[in-house]
Amino acid sequence: QDGEVGKAQRAAAEVSTEPTIFSRIIDRSVPATILYEDDECLVFRDVAPQAPVHFLVIPKCPIPRLSRVGPQDTQLLGHLMVVAARTAQAEGLSDGYRLGESCVPPHVALRVTLPALIPAPLLAVINDGKHGAQSVYHLHLHVLGGRQMSWPPG
Ligand code: IMP
Repeated sequence: QDGEVGKAQRAAAEVSTEPTIFSRIIDRSVPATILYEDDECLVFRDVAPQAPVHFLVIPKCPIPRLSRVGPQDTQLLGHLMVVAARTAQAEGLSDGYRLGESCVPPHVALRVTLPALIPAPLLAVINDGKHGAQSVYHLHLHVLGGRQMSWPPG
């Protein structure tokens, strides 16, 4: 199959212990437009943007996918969400945005509200595994904005 779904299916079939492209972005062996960094996470623009603003928020520790997280990751996951919201604000997405968009129905969807940062409810989607159309096996949040999003996502 072509496009993002085909890419996701191939990635699921080839999951390996090799460093992903995102590990290489973290260690700077692959260039990226970095928007924010701290000890726990990195934020950079998606190389194939699906909206006028499209960036990714990743943990520096190589968690392969959401279904591999445990209770020890609770603080980190919350941190990724807060960093996503603050970076969206810094990017000027004052009309709202979407955390995550995939080409096929997402496997995991979390409804969250961050009232202190953004007044409107947000929808968070993280692609997990083959059916979730995950193509890079390093946990990441997509943030898209700058245009009207539709629902449901394709
Ligand atoms: P997934 O399909 O949810 O796994 O999303 C992976 C995302 O990573 C896609 O939106 C890709 O465009 C993006 N991506 C892949 N390689 C790079 C890169 O080298 N730099 C920035 N984004 C990338």
